Amino acid sequence: MRTTVGIIGAGPAGLLLARLLHNAGIDAVVLESRDRAYVEHRQRAGILEQGTVDVLRAAGAGERMDREGLRHDGIELRFDRKRHRVDFPALTGGRSVMVYAQTEVCKDLIALQLKDGGPLLFEAEALAVEDADTDRPRVRFRHEGVEDVLECDYVVGCDGFWGVARKAIPAELTRVFERTYPFGWLGILADVAPSHDELVYARHDRGFALLSMRSPSVSRLYLQVPEGTDAEAWGDDEIWTELERRFETADDWRLERGPITQKSVTPMRSYVHEPMRHGRLFLAGDAAHIVPPTGAKGLNLAVGDVVTFARALTHQRETGSAELLDAYSETCLRRVWQAERFSYDMTTLLHRAPDATPFEDRLQLARLERLASSRAAETDLAEGYTGFPFG
Ligand SMILES: Cc1cc2nc3c(=O)[nH]c(=O)nc-3n(C[C@H](O)[C@H](O)[C@H](O)COP(=O)(O)OP(=O)(O)OC[C@H]3O[C@@H](n4cnc5c(N)ncnc54)[C@H](O)[C@@H]3O)c2cc1C
Repeated sequence: MRTTVGIIGAGPAGLLLARLLHNAGIDAVVLESRDRAYVEHRQRAGILEQGTVDVLRAAGAGERMDREGLRHDGIELRFDRKRHRVDFPALTGGRSVMVYAQTEVCKDLIALQLKDGGPLLFEAEALAVEDADTDRPRVRFRHEGVEDVLECDYVVGCDGFWGVARKAIPAELTRVFERTYPFGWLGILADVAPSHDELVYARHDRGFALLSMRSPSVSRLYLQVPEGTDAEAWGDDEIWTELERRFETADDWRLERGPITQKSVTPMRSYVHEPMRHGRLFLAGDAAHIVPPTGAKGLNLAVGDVVTFARALTHQRETGSAELLDAYSETCLRRVWQAERFSYDMTTLLHRAPDATPFEDRLQLARLERLASSRAAETDLAEGYTGFPFG
């Protein structure tokens, strides 16, 4: 099999890239190791930055998002039983975010790809990227039990943190920057209307909690838990009781309980692989970088990477200049590091480290008080949350 761009992975990065290339008249083949149902139901991110919303609309993938997504103009910070709202449009010149689940973004993009896009092969596992530093990179893959080869002009590894693409970059050319955190998030989906109309980020002496939502009738809530926690070790009542404690306010706000339909624990990690390109192999999304979910940046970073690649390849075809392709890694990494910084800041602002000292606790509260009383501090948060510009 032969194509211009071989895309490994049908997460948000791979699927959106396939759509952007299709719209630009560039052919591509997507290889995805899992089946369609798995990809469409994997619960992950839910917050789309303004730039991501704009890109999905421009790509023709925004119709259902605009109908069913929930535009959010702010978040609430909760600490010391107090509530403080951060008003995004007022602080950023009109920017906001959209609550629309990653599962739905993937469903929309898969439907478009199958309707009029190039080949999207499910249960097609990439085994290795070969000859990345030549003009004819190849992806060796297995589909329906049979090994095959995809010959390409370019390969884009959109295969997530556990994928194979990254391994094709020689170790001696690679630098990895990494931090793991001694806690994770216990996340639940519950069939109950969200108890607040915007996301609530709560800092509490017992640990962080987040109130989020997937729709007007489905809540998504998270609790900071020790690293390595087994989700099943937490009973449903125990989860609700702990959430109530951490969201408690001095006023009469109440958390509504409902049936829990899904429970899982997500580890927290910051990770950057440099460079994001080797020869004709490009890495995009989680294949190159991971952020802790506190800043809601993972999916949005993936979108930034593939927009940068699609623009660079289009530029190369229109002008013959490889200048933007050559600058791909540097361009993406500038934005990636801003998102890494933002996600790290949000994480350390709101989570309680197991070895936190009373001094650090006071500093955390002082940072939150500063956010609640300084327009400059609030603006910095609002700009980061609604998203850094694409390169
Ligand atoms: C459990 C969890 C919860 C998360 N929660 C949030 C959140 O609340 N907010 C947020 O902003 N971000 C969150 N994230 C991060 C966000 O979901 C990711 O940043 C986003 O999915 C990145 O998209 P991607 O396309 O780069 O990678 P992925 O979504 O990981 O997609 C990679 C795809 O490649 C496929 N693949 C892997 N290996 C191969 C192979 N060898 N051959 C073929 N296909 C392969 C995988 O099956 C997958 O479909 C979460 C991540 C996880 C893991």
